[in-house]
Amino acid sequence: MSVYTTNDDELCCPLCGETNVHIDGISIDPGAPVGTRVGEGLGKRIALLGYCEHCTGRFALLFVGHHGVTYLESVAQGHIGDDLVERVAS
Ligand SMILES: [Zn+2]
Repeated sequence: MSVYTTNDDELCCPLCGETNVHIDGISIDPGAPVGTRVGEGLGKRIALLGYCEHCTGRFALLFVGHHGVTYLESVAQGHIGDDLVERVAS
């Protein structure tokens, strides 16, 4: 999946397109999620982990080095738990 922002540079949820997203973690290879564009890549793989209040989807924004280029893509990671949905809503 691609990564989008609004014209005001607000990050959009890669799953639903809404802007109520939060980054709450980071993962660096070899434990980082693997995307579909170049797989594990040949260079470093760094992921920002986040979730969306609107659709409750979790996602990873992946920076993947491969053949001298850094790719940026997103990967779906399931859904946030109900306890987090309640905390976010209050
Ligand atoms: Zn969403």
